[in-house]
Amino acid sequence: MSKAVLHLSEGTEPGFLREVEQEAGTRVSLCYQCGKCAASCPVSFVMDLEPYQVMRLVQLGARDEVLRSRTIWLCASCTACSERCPREVDVAATMDALRALARRSGYRPAEAQVALFHGIFLDNVRDTGRLHELGLMVRYKLRSGDLFSDLDVGLPMMRHGKLKPTPHRIRGVEQLRVLFARVRAREAAAVRQSTGADRESEAAAGGRPEKGGEGR
Ligand code: SF4
Ligand code: SF4
Repeated sequence: MSKAVLHLSEGTEPGFLREVEQEAGTRVSLCYQCGKCAASCPVSFVMDLEPYQVMRLVQLGARDEVLRSRTIWLCASCTACSERCPREVDVAATMDALRALARRSGYRPAEAQVALFHGIFLDNVRDTGRLHELGLMVRYKLRSGDLFSDLDVGLPMMRHGKLKPTPHRIRGVEQLRVLFARVRAREAAAVRQSTGADRESEAAAGGRPEKGGEGR
């Protein structure tokens, strides 16, 4: 896949770098564009922006380019980039933070199936405290409409007893649900806060510009 040439289509937001650094708990500003993160990344070949390009766009405050990119959804959170970064930028945590910011800011995920999988995975863990692979698979297949792919892997796994028919519920699952509810409440508060901030900046700019681009 040919990579995007960096250009800023809709201006920049100076506060974006700080927002991302706070959310990710890492100093994206330290990135000096050596490219080791991209060289370490096992899925960079399908990304529309290389990991170091994402870091640069964050530094520049290019909120829209970053949050509508496919890269943030295709990142597999393997942390190879974070481990190899000579500036100790936690690139994986940054990608995670960008996904959260994209959702909160109302961007439609550029990779809808990945976002759907994330959501079902989390619901599955919240309900029982442990991942139930078969339940995850069935829910994902039904909701995505992608019924028949991966049968060549799934059927042998079932035959060999690798997919348990019923979920195993951990002790203390109620406490886990409380944690999930707290996180949801915090996210909702963050959405309200960012919506309020957006309205203020819109008012200051005399109206919100139309946002273009695929995947939102
Ligand atoms: S490895 Fe670190 S310093 Fe190098 S480009 Fe990636 S994030 Fe930046
Ligand atoms: S964490 Fe994401 S960006 Fe980093 S190497 Fe793994 S897949 Fe690539």
